[in-house]
Amino acid sequence: MSTEKTERGKHMGRMDMGVTDCGLIVMAAWDDGPADREAFIRKLRKAGYVHRKQERYEGDPMPEWAGNSHCDNEDCQCHALYRRFTAPAIGSPDEPQGDSHVLD
Ligand SMILES: [Zn+2]
Repeated sequence: MSTEKTERGKHMGRMDMGVTDCGLIVMAAWDDGPADREAFIRKLRKAGYVHRKQERYEGDPMPEWAGNSHCDNEDCQCHALYRRFTAPAIGSPDEPQGDSHVLD
């Protein structure tokens, strides 16, 4: 008797992902239409990641994320990410500049 399911769950949609050199996911987004998709793909390519798309079904195993899964390749993009996760977020260009209005 097999407990394995051969039938897939409900189709949940298409996902676009940015992956590192070794295939771990760094960023992911549901496909919400061509405009969103293109913007997302532009963003991930600019960040230097590989684009990958995947159809998702209910009950599928979760994809592997960089940070959750360890990567042993010191030269891989994963390690730049690990450093960013563990470093304090000071001077990040994505951070808002704080509340420094000059009231003069
Ligand atoms: Zn890696």
